[in-house]
Amino acid sequence: MELPYLLMAPGPVQIPPEITQIMALPMIHHRTPEFEKILVDVLERLPKVFGTHERVFIQTATGSGGMESALVNTLSRGDKVLCVVAGKFGERWRLMAQEIGCTIVSYDVPWGEAAVPAKIQTLLNENPDTRAVLIQACETSTAVLNPVQEIGAIVQKFPETLLIVDAITACGVTPLPMDAWGIDVMVAASQKAFMLPAGLSFLAFSKKSWKFVEAAKTPRFYWDVRAEKKANIANQTHFSSVVPLTRALQKVLDLILVNGKIDGNILKSKTLAKGIEVGCQKLGFQLYAKSPSPSVTALVIPEGIQGAKLPDHLETKYRITVAGGQDSLKGKIVRISSMGHIKPNDILRVIEALALASNDLGGKFSKEQIQAAQTAAQTAMTEGSN
Ligand SMILES: *Cc1c(COP(=O)(O)O)cnc(C)c1O
Repeated sequence: MELPYLLMAPGPVQIPPEITQIMALPMIHHRTPEFEKILVDVLERLPKVFGTHERVFIQTATGSGGMESALVNTLSRGDKVLCVVAGKFGERWRLMAQEIGCTIVSYDVPWGEAAVPAKIQTLLNENPDTRAVLIQACETSTAVLNPVQEIGAIVQKFPETLLIVDAITACGVTPLPMDAWGIDVMVAASQKAFMLPAGLSFLAFSKKSWKFVEAAKTPRFYWDVRAEKKANIANQTHFSSVVPLTRALQKVLDLILVNGKIDGNILKSKTLAKGIEVGCQKLGFQLYAKSPSPSVTALVIPEGIQGAKLPDHLETKYRITVAGGQDSLKGKIVRISSMGHIKPNDILRVIEALALASNDLGGKFSKEQIQAAQTAAQTAMTEGSN
């Protein structure tokens, strides 16, 4: 019998079967009472995932579109921007800000480490004209979680500076209450914590940030959130909605919000991550991130294993997709998601498959070692979920 396929990359993630079914429903027009009901419901509940009283806008784009939208809606050519660059996604945002014509102050964080809030305080003191701080809540390329709460407390003291957070692998799976932590613009995307295919990004703007939205001079038409806001007030989207994804989003919100709270989903992700961490460390895979995120785990591939071949081999022989490392981390790490429709048993399967795939590529894990790793992971997950 063929093994069931398991998608454990840090996006796209494994999709719940009921979501797949909903996406196959016959098409309807987006300007109908039937669709309007769905839209109103998702727009009402999305802010609960963001921890905000503000509106959350849906834009038809992958996460990078949401990142660009956050910038073009708040910044202008010549604005000074502090870019926290701790990996690939930080680099991407800096490139976008450069493209807009912003003046960049870079805070380059060594890969694998988290940003230091005191350093951001210093950089803002030195550059009081900074219009925005750009940061990833979870830098997916290194699996590091940044201390957004502390950074929010600092940026809040600067009335002319926004904190703009790429929360694409954090919102919904790690604690990130936008209002309480002083986040001004937050971006999420469908194919990560939201357990959907790629194609939607979600964005919210704080009260403080609307003044920036009005003042921003960067040309924007498709991305203009003012037009979207006007449409949403009339229970519409400005452009055509992606009906199948919006329907699926409605169902996802049923799954991840329990009594209107996201806490259970956050705990689930944390528990699964604990299982991955404990089990794989027991095998000898060390954690790459100094401040690991509960949404994705980066593991250092032990010496003697052909690391560059590991992700492909896991996929073809063991039917599990994980992500490898990017750039200088190619062949050195694997990244395993704890987002998506996965259960503790899937984590046990990943641990075994990781060991067996490693053995095919030079590793020497015994049956007893693999079992011990699975037992440790199981114990950690049982304790973690209580
Ligand atoms: C996945 C991801 C993105 C967006 O990637 P897209 O392919 O455009 O959806 C942005 N930032 C982070 C941190 C991500 O993990």
